[in-house]
Amino acid sequence: MTSPFCNVALPVPLRTTFTYAIPETLREFVQPGSRVVAPFRRKSLVGVVVEFVQDAPEGAKIRELSKVLDFQPALTPKLLELGQWIAGYYLAPVGEVFRAMLPPVTELRTERQVVLTDSGRAAADKEATAAQSLNPQQHAFLAQLRDKAGMMPFASAAKLGFDGASLQRLRRTGLIEIRESMLGRKAKTQRVLAWKGGGAKTCGQKSEEDGESRARAFEEKISVVEAALEARGPLPLAQLLRVANVSRRVIERMLRDGSLESWEERIDPAEDPFDAGYVPPAHELNAEQESALKLIRARFELGEFGVLLLHGVTGSGKTEVYMRAVQETLARGKTAIILVPEIALTLWIGRQCRAWFGARFEGVAVLHSALSDVERAREWWRVRNGEARVVVGTRSAIFAPLQNLGLIIVDEEQESSYKQEETPRYHGRDVAIVRAKMENAAALLGSATPSLETYHHARSGKYELLTLAGRVESRPLASVEIVDLREDFAKTHQTSPISAALHDGIAECLAQETQALVLINRRGYSWSVLCRSCGVSVQCANCSISMTYHKQRNRLECHYCGSIQSVPKQCPKCQSQYVYFFGEGSEHLEERLREEFPGARIARLDRDTARTKRQYQETLGAFAGGALDILVGTQMLAKGHDFQRVTLVGVVSADSLLSLPDFRAAERTFQLLTQVAGRAGRGALPGRVLIQTFYPEHYAIQDAVRQDYPAFYERETQFRRAMAYPPFTSLANVIVRHADLEKAIRWSRQLSQYFSPHDGKGLRILGPAAAPLAKLKKEHRFQFLLKSPKRSLLAKVLGGAMTYLGQKEIPETAVLVDMDPLSLM
Ligand code: ADP
Ligand code: ZN
Ligand code: ZN
Repeated sequence: MTSPFCNVALPVPLRTTFTYAIPETLREFVQPGSRVVAPFRRKSLVGVVVEFVQDAPEGAKIRELSKVLDFQPALTPKLLELGQWIAGYYLAPVGEVFRAMLPPVTELRTERQVVLTDSGRAAADKEATAAQSLNPQQHAFLAQLRDKAGMMPFASAAKLGFDGASLQRLRRTGLIEIRESMLGRKAKTQRVLAWKGGGAKTCGQKSEEDGESRARAFEEKISVVEAALEARGPLPLAQLLRVANVSRRVIERMLRDGSLESWEERIDPAEDPFDAGYVPPAHELNAEQESALKLIRARFELGEFGVLLLHGVTGSGKTEVYMRAVQETLARGKTAIILVPEIALTLWIGRQCRAWFGARFEGVAVLHSALSDVERAREWWRVRNGEARVVVGTRSAIFAPLQNLGLIIVDEEQESSYKQEETPRYHGRDVAIVRAKMENAAALLGSATPSLETYHHARSGKYELLTLAGRVESRPLASVEIVDLREDFAKTHQTSPISAALHDGIAECLAQETQALVLINRRGYSWSVLCRSCGVSVQCANCSISMTYHKQRNRLECHYCGSIQSVPKQCPKCQSQYVYFFGEGSEHLEERLREEFPGARIARLDRDTARTKRQYQETLGAFAGGALDILVGTQMLAKGHDFQRVTLVGVVSADSLLSLPDFRAAERTFQLLTQVAGRAGRGALPGRVLIQTFYPEHYAIQDAVRQDYPAFYERETQFRRAMAYPPFTSLANVIVRHADLEKAIRWSRQLSQYFSPHDGKGLRILGPAAAPLAKLKKEHRFQFLLKSPKRSLLAKVLGGAMTYLGQKEIPETAVLVDMDPLSLM
């Protein structure tokens, strides 16, 4: 049944697996997908068993596995398959892929529980003699388990004479499951109420006049409670009291009458405190939402893989459609993943999910990188054990070990945060589509400004296009106006980052007591430090990039490698005194706003002020709650948040993105402007957006002003087609890097020798050239850009390059391959 050897993927930067012998004592436990501890060089590493092998490779010294960590393999066969696909497609070491998919290995104490399965229960219910293939002890054990409500801790099983190996044998027959549960969690509970119907509605004293009107008032309250519970399903008490706006006494009485039922339900301690009393708006879907949902439903009915693009303008109510789609998925007995582009949105969507599904289907899990290892491991195992059926998370939540997956939602699918910029360099959205395909599930991509690639597929019919063209309740989109900075300067002769028009707009907000968002692209005080005498700018010692001045911390910082320098009093090159700080960042903007609007309540949100989840939440919470008038910040502000009282959004410079040396510069600019414009006028108050720019005639800005995605798409596709860029060609970025310049040059030359015979044969190879970031973290960088309309060809040539590296003894770590790169820096 089992083999003496297995191949193990280890988290090392090598593109191979390693063969180990399985000691006799571990044979029962090792399975594909199991985490194992294996000796590697002089260390022990945690790896994943990929497959069994009958024979060890000849000549090699085979070592033995030292431990198996899982009873039930941590990775399901589907996830194992997905990991291998990722390793192949992104040319990443498979062990590093699995490491990214697995929960952190923590010191957390776990307790193993033996759980009876349905077939186990059936076997226990049969007569001992009728339960074939079970010996009497096993049968007796199953019966015991059944009488213990189907569950018992490992230790109790051991007392009954069932040790690890005998349990494992039972597990393999499918009669029991072994669950890992984390200790140290106090189970808090809350009361949940559900409508039971019937009940003696007319109880109470109705003999007197006064009594009759009271009874009628009570009946009215009953129908409000009924309506609330019918519409939303069971609700926690606190929430029900708020939704129905009735007193606790009414509920108590309804319980006594029998029209309500109640039970205690566990509250997840990982849940965020803002949940308490949160009531999700349950809207009637409008016609557009309804027809989008109909198409999603049709896809579910087909029960096949398919990708749907929900293209809905900002404020069109996409979240509502997501929630209903998940609801239908759960109703079909399947599970769902919702990916969001950043941690803050996991809180927001997670809260909605728990409000929608938490009470009805035990368990929504949240996974993101800001959780502690312990929290993350706990959530992960909850999902693995089938306790949570909805997962909300950032990029890596695409690896959530859900079984029977029916739906994967990727919100704001165009966001670059879905791309991991370190090994394995996968794109969360693309992996979502591949996983959906492997699991025969639906993938629902949502966006107001889809990536060009995705929209292209929707146009060509590869994806199904669902459109929400209008905002909910026919609210108008915000009006977008351009502030031409050349004209502003001609008029005011001021070099403030805040133009006269933006100043007036903010002043108007303050007067009306509404709120303003002001967006700036860079953090810090000034992003360049220049000498006026010799023109030199202060560069990072490790990277070819200028240092950013941070005024409060009083130092220069490199935003690429994190190195710091003191603020120079004189030019490091010519010693002149004329050091000049240039280019405003968010810190500077905040200072300016405080000067210009002394009475206003202002806060800043960027990576410097929001270092922790809590800080982030506090600032956003304060703004949403009306405790702030103006919020200044970087891109962090642009996404998702549903602020109701924002009437003005100012964009300090639309140009900083546009001028980046990147073929996606126009797309990014259009997306950012449209996204931030979507933050204005979401409530009942109309919104206004002011975009400051030196290039008002650029199409990315013009189309953003009109909020006309199709027009932008047309123009941008012409450019992409002419220049042979995605979506018309596949791209790979190959960087050769080393601290020693000579080596980096030599290896680039060698790689060039391998590449050049392929050039022109269905493949274009540009380079080697110095990378735009020619030096990063002390390493010199040279770049090749590979383009081909045929992805398979690209993969083949790159695969060959990897073999070639081995032949030439070029270390694999010196060559970085980025398939479908988002950044060409
Ligand atoms: P999007 O994600 O498309 O920008 P949201 O999902 O955040 O939009 O919805 C915007 C607002 O509209 C939210 O406050 C939401 O509660 C509300 N909303 C959603 N659907 C409806 C509807 N059918 N009727 C009224 N309001 C709705
Ligand atoms: Zn100088
Ligand atoms: Zn640096």
